[in-house]
Amino acid sequence: MNRVIIVGGGLAGMVLAFRLHEEDIPFLLIDKPSLSSSSKVAAGLWNPLVFKRMSKSWMAEELVPELHRFFKTCERKTGVDFLCKRISIKPFTEDQEKTLWKNRVYQDLSTFAEAQDYKGIPQGYEACTFTNGYGKIFESGNVYINTFLEAGKAFFKDCLVEEDFDYAQLQIRERSVVYKNWETETLVFCEGHLVKHNPYFSWIPLKPAKGEILHITAPKLKIKKGVYNRDGFILDSEEGKFIVGSTYNWLELNDKASPAGLKELEKKLSRMISCDYTVISHLAGVRPSSIDRRPIIGAHPKHKHLFVFNGLGAKGVMLAPYFAGKFVHFLKQKQDLPPEVDVARFYKLYAAH
Ligand SMILES: Cc1cc2nc3c(=O)[nH]c(=O)nc-3n(C[C@H](O)[C@H](O)[C@H](O)COP(=O)(O)OP(=O)(O)OC[C@H]3O[C@@H](n4cnc5c(N)ncnc54)[C@H](O)[C@@H]3O)c2cc1C
Repeated sequence: MNRVIIVGGGLAGMVLAFRLHEEDIPFLLIDKPSLSSSSKVAAGLWNPLVFKRMSKSWMAEELVPELHRFFKTCERKTGVDFLCKRISIKPFTEDQEKTLWKNRVYQDLSTFAEAQDYKGIPQGYEACTFTNGYGKIFESGNVYINTFLEAGKAFFKDCLVEEDFDYAQLQIRERSVVYKNWETETLVFCEGHLVKHNPYFSWIPLKPAKGEILHITAPKLKIKKGVYNRDGFILDSEEGKFIVGSTYNWLELNDKASPAGLKELEKKLSRMISCDYTVISHLAGVRPSSIDRRPIIGAHPKHKHLFVFNGLGAKGVMLAPYFAGKFVHFLKQKQDLPPEVDVARFYKLYAAH
């Protein structure tokens, strides 16, 4: 394959860059660091369970092993650590919840959790709220996405151009596309929610969701390599610091940390912990969620050299490695994309726009 051009160096674009590198496919990554980026705000958690429904997350058996393989390979290449395996703790409030947990885990979650409930309070969680025992998930953790992106930018410094992609300068030809001095047969847009400004892909049906997050200190919290999940989450980050999240807002789509977001996060915290804390920073971003909660990947219906890799929503860490792999095989060997993620499912919207 000739050199691929990637537009957007968030989680989607950078994971794709590493995937192309694995296959020895050259690429150029164009990213404007000062633009809105969900990846720079995200806690980077992955979890094979959806706590709200106590059900398995979509394709968890395939996605989680690939996530490990992929990020470990990137750690080895860059010499930087960003993958952190954690035990997630799910406190129960009612007996019914415990029964549901045991049944569900027994039925189809046994790879990720134990079909048992624990009594009392786990070590390190003494300042957290427990009223009726808890369950444990082993196969969970987080990726420090900012660290991954910085390591990727340093590793690929010769393939990186830091500038705003100017759509007006893109020339579409029969056999290629040309942008400034660069010609390619494969230009992939990974702009997250900013795809709304892209004249070629603004029709893809995103349903973006603003999210806010806090970084706090709380001397009495002793969580180590864990996550506490109860209508929100708390995880330990650097020494003595914790990340608290997160909110969902589908109306105000901007990166501004808001007083309403702070209030909501403080309310969540009051249900999760009983100790004092200090807010160090309060951040906001916009998740590029799609209307059917699946990634949106593949070729433009009319311009065959233009592609999109987007729609990672709230689960970019789990989805990106596996589907970037599928996408590279689609580009290289013309293997079909799984229909659930193929942008072709929305071609009728392009025809109508
Ligand atoms: C508060 C919050 C918490 C989250 N927590 C988690 C979590 O725990 N786990 C999880 O898996 N996910 C989480 N997410 C979601 C996660 O952030 C996304 O799934 C993922 O980061 C999306 O990556 P992306 O690359 O598609 O988009 P983005 O991260 O938004 O990146 C888009 C990139 O494209 C660039 N770009 C756009 N237009 C142009 C242009 N014209 N020229 C040049 N560059 C351009 C931008 O600069 C940016 O770098 C969270 C999100 C938020 C907001």
